[in-house]
Amino acid sequence: MKKQTILLTLCLLVASASLSAQTKVIAHRGYWDTEGSAQNSLTALRKAAEVGCWGSEFDVWQTSDGELVVFHDSKLGKGYDRPITEMTAEEVRAHRLPNGERVPTLEEYLTEALKHPDLHLVFELKPHPTPSQEREAVAKGVQMVEEMGLADRTDYISFSLEACREFHRVAPAAKVFYLNGNLSPDELKTEGFAGPDYNFAIFELHPSWIEESRSLDLETNVWTVNKDSLIRRYAKKGVDYITTNRPEEALEIVEN
Ligand code: MG
Repeated sequence: MKKQTILLTLCLLVASASLSAQTKVIAHRGYWDTEGSAQNSLTALRKAAEVGCWGSEFDVWQTSDGELVVFHDSKLGKGYDRPITEMTAEEVRAHRLPNGERVPTLEEYLTEALKHPDLHLVFELKPHPTPSQEREAVAKGVQMVEEMGLADRTDYISFSLEACREFHRVAPAAKVFYLNGNLSPDELKTEGFAGPDYNFAIFELHPSWIEESRSLDLETNVWTVNKDSLIRRYAKKGVDYITTNRPEEALEIVEN
């Protein structure tokens, strides 16, 4: 009886440890590579939730008239000579995504997120032409996230070190991850960030950074990991998050 109890306790301990260590899957620009979807569309956000992703990543720009919109590239595509930062919200909103949706405003995007209460949001601010534009976009973005009651499930990321510092300054309780790959875990810790959110090529170059991050109580996120073999490799290394264009396959791999 005593032996059985010890065995059961051990099993439970192992089960809970592996559960807490399981790599979380983040859909990169939402789950877009599937029927009826498109990058950074409301559908992509909904589909990321539907397949059971831990989180969904999206890209944010500020228009010339101060509206935050969700889109990846700096320009809307062929036939557009000005970047989004030099277009009005109305001009940006006239553009259709490949699935027929309009470019969403951040407000529309977050409103869709309210319908998926288990989904975490990974808010990327794209590097803007000037620091003041970034500061303004950070302030507006954080305020909107907080006012809509999404603060406890939103992380912030950016390639811009200044934008990451600003996110950390205005939302000190939020997790901020830096994307640009050129800061060591020690340097990220000093900045007060949550950890590295780096291209896998960076972790290939600095394999010790995953373990170093863990020892500093930082979390690691790796992108954009699409091949089965790489997903398996990074899940085995115990990274906290994998950001991928193939969330269904990644979920299958990390859960098995
Ligand atoms: Mg992004």
